[in-house]
Amino acid sequence: MWRIQNLEKREVTLDFSSAGMGSFRTSALTADDTTIVNAISLVEMEDDSCVQVLVCTECGIVRCESGGWVRSRRFGDALLWLPCFERISDDEVEYRPPDFFKARGLPFFEGASAERLGDLLPLFRLETTPLATLRDVALLTQWLAPWHVLGRPGEAVRVKRELLIATSSGELESVVDQIEAVLDEALADMSSARPAHATPGPELYLDGPKGTPTWKPLVVDDLGRVRISVDGVTAAVGDPA
Ligand SMILES: [Zn+2]
Repeated sequence: MWRIQNLEKREVTLDFSSAGMGSFRTSALTADDTTIVNAISLVEMEDDSCVQVLVCTECGIVRCESGGWVRSRRFGDALLWLPCFERISDDEVEYRPPDFFKARGLPFFEGASAERLGDLLPLFRLETTPLATLRDVALLTQWLAPWHVLGRPGEAVRVKRELLIATSSGELESVVDQIEAVLDEALADMSSARPAHATPGPELYLDGPKGTPTWKPLVVDDLGRVRISVDGVTAAVGDPA
């Protein structure tokens, strides 16, 4: 996760002359000196709450360029930008998130940062942002998994067992069974997710040509239940029915 500290609005002038429109003055939003919205007067939220935050710099028209799509979701008092998972299943190039997702992590706006984001760009106000679902968090777990060990985004969420060589506690096969069971349950659960206190779950070790990364997909809540998490620290649990 990229826990954003410093959000700023900066005036920018875009050169639309190649599109026959001259120059265009607007503002960009930067987070910790990375541009996260390049033209705040041009972005719009679509019906499924996906937003192209980086629009074409030559004409400003949404969808002219591919990529740069995010979907805003609320998790407790924080707002996070997720990839547009459903759209990525249809077209992973067109609807991929901005490159800063890879370079810096998923944008995570907490406390004052969340408030400031909503003030600067009201379509991202926390109060009107839909809550993340357990399904969202399961798809996020797939997205963040090293080496696509849960399959590529858009594919079925399945542990690629051949990539795993060991676990920090318990027997590997039963830990993997547990991961699949927890993810299967979450994928089918459209109820809203809320944060709960947790401790890290078992570590898994991957084998491959590029070293042995560790992977910690699960956390354990205070009742000892294994859960998926948003940030590796906080468990995502369903709303009490
Ligand atoms: Zn364009």
